[in-house]
Amino acid sequence: MHAPRPVQLISIVLPAFNEGEALRMVIPAIAQALRGELIEIIIVDDGSTDATRAAALSATASYPVRYLRFSRNFGKEAALSAGIDAARGQAVIMMDADGQHPVELLALFLERWRAGAEIVSGVQKDRLDTPPKRFAKRLYYRLMAAGSSITIPPDAGDFRLLDRKVVDALKTLPERKRFMKGLYSWVGFRTELIPFVARPRAAGETKYGWMQLFGLGLTGMTAFTIAPLRMVSILGLAISVTSFLFGVYLLLEYFLDSNQLAGWATLAVGMMFFSGLQLLALGLISEYLAGMFEEVKQRPLYIVAEDTGERAPVPARASTETVMAEDDPSRVSR
Ligand code: UDP
Ligand code: MG
Repeated sequence: MHAPRPVQLISIVLPAFNEGEALRMVIPAIAQALRGELIEIIIVDDGSTDATRAAALSATASYPVRYLRFSRNFGKEAALSAGIDAARGQAVIMMDADGQHPVELLALFLERWRAGAEIVSGVQKDRLDTPPKRFAKRLYYRLMAAGSSITIPPDAGDFRLLDRKVVDALKTLPERKRFMKGLYSWVGFRTELIPFVARPRAAGETKYGWMQLFGLGLTGMTAFTIAPLRMVSILGLAISVTSFLFGVYLLLEYFLDSNQLAGWATLAVGMMFFSGLQLLALGLISEYLAGMFEEVKQRPLYIVAEDTGERAPVPARASTETVMAEDDPSRVSR
């Protein structure tokens, strides 16, 4: 006979931006997967304009759901921060609200955590993105690894479990520009990676198009590495040295050769190339400057417009509704 293990509260944080339809399936699935655990579910509504609010509020009747609504769309990183701030659990699990993160893994996450892992992170094995997006993401993680002192495990996304210690550490980071993947790595802790295959979305569509991904990528890069700035300096130095040598060559040519008119093409091309480079360098510097601007403004990360408040945590159970939906063959779509 062994003593019953102490009761630990598990918080599940779901950032949701227009996930009304998906939430109706995801919440029962989570409760089902964590049967017997003491849980609270925190839904952070990131300025949705669809039925997300209705779906979340109706879930509060059958599940220990706390619903937070942002006053507008602040972005997933802010939504995750809000979830972390609100969570009271010994372990906090973050997962997408669209059903792409398989709930079947939750039990394994908890098992690894109870075995001593402080962060358990799902690593996406085969990305469901289009090939160009997949290529761009891969290239990006390579670049980040080359440029920064922290290593961000590639493909480790926002499907993870954080121990209370990690959550408290994350809460001490004051920065406005939040690139969560980088912050997890920055705080350290014993991390375990668990491969998984992301499922297709339960409903709705992705909010991350090329522009959003590019913006997020730039935030991450400028927040965690100054390698681009350094590269610009090195490039500038290399170009100065080259042009000095070229100047010496031109001088020699002037004295030794009578043909003085050649070289206008060199001039034209050179001018265009270097104005391009200068703009690029300026742009890069402005990125960092803009980052500082965001930080010094010290604005809050998000504004909560509505909060259903803390709920007494309850042991998760499968609701009769879900069981029926799963068992009833007439509901299988043809
Ligand atoms: N999300 C959010 N705010 C946003 C964009 C996305 O809270 O501004 C949430 C979204 O509801 C989902 C998760 O972040 O739960 C992942 O978003 P999405 O599925 O669009 O990204 P993908 O899985 O395609 O990378
Ligand atoms: Mg998704």
